[in-house]
Amino acid sequence: DSDELGDEEEGLVVSHFGTFVEVEPHSSPNQTAQCHFRANVGAIVAGDKVVMRQGKSGYGVIETVLPRGSLLSRPDPRGNLKPVAANIDFMVLVITPEPAPSGVLIDRYLVAAELQQLNIKILLNKTDLITDMNEAMLDDLLKVYRDIGYDVWECSAKTEQGLEELKEQLDQHTSVFVGQSGVGKSSLVNGLMPGVNAKVGELSENSKLGRHTTTNARLFHFPTGGDLIDSPGIREFGLWHLDPDKVIDGFQDFEPWRFECKFRDCKHQKEPGCALLAAVERGDVNPQRFNNYFAIREALLNAQ
Ligand code: GDP
Ligand code: ZN
Repeated sequence: DSDELGDEEEGLVVSHFGTFVEVEPHSSPNQTAQCHFRANVGAIVAGDKVVMRQGKSGYGVIETVLPRGSLLSRPDPRGNLKPVAANIDFMVLVITPEPAPSGVLIDRYLVAAELQQLNIKILLNKTDLITDMNEAMLDDLLKVYRDIGYDVWECSAKTEQGLEELKEQLDQHTSVFVGQSGVGKSSLVNGLMPGVNAKVGELSENSKLGRHTTTNARLFHFPTGGDLIDSPGIREFGLWHLDPDKVIDGFQDFEPWRFECKFRDCKHQKEPGCALLAAVERGDVNPQRFNNYFAIREALLNAQ
């Protein structure tokens, strides 16, 4: 069979369909090759780097999946985590001035990203909607996250303010956009990928598909550099199930104190010697974050 296959080379997985994957071979990155894979190579998802051999007339083959820098997974209907996209550098959480995001919503996304060890950035889109009425509230809200150490980017897909800076941030990296419906994720993608090529055409088609449609994750190249992995499922990332007992691990700003509590099983509510409560009282932990932690945990426990 080696007569029909080219030499081993690296490739970048663009998409996974049922029985084959689409790969950009290192030797011809402007083309995609369709490849089969042996059952023992394990899951292969968009963004995976693989060792492949191109097919001379038909399908090529994936020999191995190279070690991943990160892996985004979501639960299948039975609750088992299923890999969706690999080697993501930035999970970009898109929010807007109007409607204003709640801290609980932002924290829910942050926790979900932290628990998967994904590097999350906050992107305030629709800066053209900032007014005297909402500006102070927004500044306060975003300061909370900047103070903890999260990057907060700002832009307007409509006026293109901040888009050049955003392009520079995304260059050389692989990103996913997540956030509630209506925050402008599709508009941002269109703004970042003008001069529609075939791949982008597919993307904008996909983004118009309904909620019920499960379209496979797909990797796209920004013309200004960097890649985007997108699918309706990825955009809904923050709504995925979290384990209530793991939520606190997603609050990195609690970490310096929570292990100092007097009782090892401290729930950080009213216990004597709770170092986290003391940190909140001293102002070392933001009280809103602290309240959001309980709100998220409660909501998850109630949903069980
Ligand atoms: P998605 O659901 O997150 O993909 O959001 P869309 O891209 O479909 O955008 C939702 C609505 O917000 C549309 O009517 C857009 O025209 C509008 N929109 C997107 N970006 C901006 C922006 O920067 N400013 C304003 N004012 N509207 C925007
Ligand atoms: Zn405690």
